[in-house]
Amino acid sequence: MSWLPTLIKACYFLAALLFILGLKRMSSPRTARGGIVWAGYGMLLAVLATFFLPDMHNRGLIIAAVLVGVAAAWWSGKRVAMTAMPQMVALYNGMGGGAAAAIGAVELIGYVRTLAILHPPGLPDTSPLRPESWAINALNPPPALVALSPVELALGVLGALIGAVSFSGSLIAFAKLQGWLDKRFVFPGQRAVNLLLLAGAVAVGLALIVGHASLPLIVVFFVLALLFGLMMTLPIGGADMPVVISLYNAFTGLAVAFEGFVLGNEAMIIAGMVVGAAGTLLTQLMAKAMNRSIGNVLFGSFGAAGGEAQAIEGAQKPVDAADAAVMMAYAERVVIVPGYGLAVAQAQHKVWEFAQLLIKRGVKVKFAIHPVAGRMPGHMNVLLAEAGVPYDLIADMDDINPEFAATDVALVIGANDVVNPLARTDPASPIYGMPILDVGDAKHVIVIKRGKGTGFAGIENALFYGDNTRMLYGDGQAAVGELVTELKAIEA
Ligand code: NDP
Repeated sequence: MSWLPTLIKACYFLAALLFILGLKRMSSPRTARGGIVWAGYGMLLAVLATFFLPDMHNRGLIIAAVLVGVAAAWWSGKRVAMTAMPQMVALYNGMGGGAAAAIGAVELIGYVRTLAILHPPGLPDTSPLRPESWAINALNPPPALVALSPVELALGVLGALIGAVSFSGSLIAFAKLQGWLDKRFVFPGQRAVNLLLLAGAVAVGLALIVGHASLPLIVVFFVLALLFGLMMTLPIGGADMPVVISLYNAFTGLAVAFEGFVLGNEAMIIAGMVVGAAGTLLTQLMAKAMNRSIGNVLFGSFGAAGGEAQAIEGAQKPVDAADAAVMMAYAERVVIVPGYGLAVAQAQHKVWEFAQLLIKRGVKVKFAIHPVAGRMPGHMNVLLAEAGVPYDLIADMDDINPEFAATDVALVIGANDVVNPLARTDPASPIYGMPILDVGDAKHVIVIKRGKGTGFAGIENALFYGDNTRMLYGDGQAAVGELVTELKAIEA
């Protein structure tokens, strides 16, 4: 069956094409669903083709593992709430990094065993059983032997390092998003500890590459890499989790690509590169949106500033739905600012119904989206698109901020951190430096939220105590429903 390898390569090529076209389709909400399905077919094709590789072993075990993985993913994917999606993405991303690291571990262990077989103590250097390790392939080795060229060895170690960091870091990100872990875990000297761990992992990795590979060293390498991922993510909290999540996404892609190179698997190389490139771009965009450099996020304990938080004076002033509806019915310009609470309440359809009623009355309505509103990149865009809000009514932060001063009412629905003025005024705040939507500049601000709950960063919000702010307490969907009823009553 000499045509089999060619057929497998053709399948990999088709799979790569499906990944790339799928990713392209994901760039617009209209085609994103199809894009995911295309990429899924690509993955299915790549996995199926891999089963026919001539040197494939343990097929039974692999099928069992695939079945367990598919069952777990199917079950959790069906059950997950939209608002819990980010932690699921973090978890799956971590699994990808872990899988890449596991491949690296298996390759390294196989390589060390191979060296032990080929270089038994006491065997003279001139023995034909002592070829350079990367020449073993040419001798058509039995499957237990792992031959790695120096480049493959280096990439294998690098992929394992990045994959292990992504694995443990993503698990911490998952625990934070799930609310299982304190968002800002800091201790004195954390930065030095993190740098030492990284330096240690890199040094041991280099030792593995330059010929000191041994099983104990491999164990030390992985322990250091996993610890570094863990410790690096623990202090990151507040508002910069999105940067970290997309960074780990890029890491996982890179790790998979490197390990794909070691295995000589084109599908892994291409899929990994696509994920790595997309993740890198997303990380840059998110970091820019948060006004941070990547280095600052990773080593600056961003989101974990210490010191006394600024005291907020005054009291929150409530408003009822009838008064709020009147304010907006007679306004010239209304800007609606959605946040995570909109997603929790699934209020997007009601909000669009309300906006349409205002538009019918001649009010100029816009939606303002902060780049990290919600719990995943593009979260608010997806929700508004689902409700049918036209794109030309949706404005990015940079475009809308100058317009708030000319806005009569800013209606904040379930947003908190992304409209918190302390990000500008309080250096002790964990979100200090994050750009925000300047809703406080509007003549009136109406905030819909259930009570006095804090946002993701877990801090008070000075906006809610502002002179021009009124609080409309209630679940997002119910409160906007009341606004709709009151607005219709005004029209009748
Ligand atoms: P926040 O998490 O800051 O605030 C959400 C607010 O919504 C809460 O204060 C809560 O107050 C309110 N709320 C919750 N449920 C409801 C409901 N059913 N009805 C009405 N209100 C509700 O959201 P933002 O969007 O302002 O900020 C996003 C935060 O998440 C940022 O800190 C960002 O960095 C972080 N993050 C973003 C990610 C991303 O990729 N976009 C990923 C990970 C984190 P109350 O309890 O009183 O109702």
